[in-house]
This record gives sequence, structure tokens and C-alpha cells, in this order.
Amino acid sequence: MTGGKAGDGSVKDEDGKSPGDRKRKAVHAIIIEQISTGEVSFMNIGFGFYPGGKRKALTMSYDDGQVHDRKLVEIFNRYGIRGTFHLNSGRFDTDVFLKSTEIRDLFEGHEISAHTLNHPYLTILPGDMVATEVLEDRKNLEELAGYPVRGMSYPFGAYSQELVEILPFLGIEYCRTVNSHFGFQLPDDFLAWHPTCHHKQGLMEKAEAFRKIGKWAQMPLLYVWGHSFEFEWDKNWDLIEEFCKTVSGDEDVWYATNIEIADYVKAMKSLKFSVDRKIVHNPSAQDVWISVDGEPCRIEAGKTVRL
Ligand SMILES: [Zn+2]
Repeated sequence: MTGGKAGDGSVKDEDGKSPGDRKRKAVHAIIIEQISTGEVSFMNIGFGFYPGGKRKALTMSYDDGQVHDRKLVEIFNRYGIRGTFHLNSGRFDTDVFLKSTEIRDLFEGHEISAHTLNHPYLTILPGDMVATEVLEDRKNLEELAGYPVRGMSYPFGAYSQELVEILPFLGIEYCRTVNSHFGFQLPDDFLAWHPTCHHKQGLMEKAEAFRKIGKWAQMPLLYVWGHSFEFEWDKNWDLIEEFCKTVSGDEDVWYATNIEIADYVKAMKSLKFSVDRKIVHNPSAQDVWISVDGEPCRIEAGKTVRL
């Protein structure tokens, strides 16, 4: 605020309005006037689309890196389902865990993601040990994956506000919890990314509800998490097979990894619009689809477009 001895909100007239309220109302009136006289017309812009103009997204998130991931990946691949595998690199080449030499090829087309080096409860660990657990896991995984590992899931689902604040400094851009919300919404905070459901929590009902979602829904995401060894223990591999069969091949669905979804939402939010929304600049390295009068419109990476 500039000038005026009376601070905004400190002096109110008989209507209970402060000088700030009056100024805002006046500006609002001018804008409305300009729009109605055609001086300024806003484009009808929306953000309802995933890549390719698809309306929905599906992602899978599986933890711990046991040998049963091999069978799970084989099922995902058969149906074109994609997902993320959160791995404890400190456990590779032991007992029931995957071999380090197979990681790169096994997870081709999926995302290799962190789950800490040794799977501790991070909430009770001193900060420097949290850093070591995350960074060492990233370092080992990156050597195998051949790309920067930027995703994670919390071991035991244990997280805190402190961890949410620490992780970005350790190169982590999203981290999944185990707090299912049973909905299809995108997360408010990618560093406490709550999934739709565990695969034991009414998976087929969720698949059916996801299929039936109307066009009004704002970028619905079906996000399923679990552990591959649970299918082995519960002897219900047919459940995930049936699920993949049901949700596969839908032209309206983007089958994505966790980080692809986080990256896309970030790119979408980074779009720069002119005030009248007729010009848009996409500063990101990936194409983004927005809606213009309800129809998908592709904004190419790095381009400035007149809508
Ligand atoms: Zn785990």
C-alpha cells in the first residue's frame, strides 16, 4: 500500500468497508466494464488435460524391491500399465531382494525411485542420518538407473512436517505416504502424496468408479500402491492381473509413472499467461495441454503461443 495515513482495514466506514476494500471494488468495476465493452476479453482457459489431451491418469507405486517385482513388472508390461518402484538399495543382492545387476533392465519403461538405503523410520532419525539414508539410496540407484532419481516413498509410511521440509534439499521432488484417500484428486503437496488406495482396499471397485468418472472431473488420477510380495503371500496375483486387464487400453487414460505426473503438474503450473489470457508461454521442457473453450490445446515446450 502507498500513501494514506489510514492503514488498509484499520478505518472502516458505516458499511464496514475499509479504504482497501473500496479500492479493490473500484478496480473490479473497471475490469468488468472493460470486459463488457470488449476492451479486455478473457480467453476461456482451463487446466483439465494430461499429455495428449487425455482426461485421466493412472499410476502404480510399489515398494521394497523384492524378487516378486519381476512378476509384477511382467504383468504391468503385458497390459501397458506403468508405475514406480521404490527401492532400498542397501538390501539389493540379499535374501528375497532384487539383484543390483537386474535393476536397469527390469524397470525399463517404469520409474526407479528411492525408499531410503535401509528402510528405517525416518521420523525418529537425526537429520543427518535422514540425509545419508536418502542421498546414499539416490546415489546407488542413479548409478544403476542412469538418470537422476527424484522420487521417493516413506518407509512404513512414516512422515512428518519436518521431513516434508527436509526432502527437497535432498533432491526429492515427491514422496508417497500410505494414507489412502480413496478419491481421484491430485495431491495438495507432492511431498506428502496420498494415494487413492492400497490394492487390498477395494481395487476393482475403484477401477470401475474410475472408468465411470464424468467429464466434469478435474484431472482425475487413480493412484494404487502396495508391495509385490503381498500378491505372493495372499496368493492373489489374479487380482492385479484382472485390474490391469480392466484399466488397460483406455484412450482417455494417461498411463504414467509417479514422477511423470509430478513433472507434468509442475510444467502446467509454470505456464505464463498474458493478462487477457490470449498469449501463453511454456517455459518448461515438455508440452502441456490446456483447455481453450473446453477443447484440448497443446502448448509446445519452450514456445510462446497466441491462442
Ligand atoms: Zn517399504
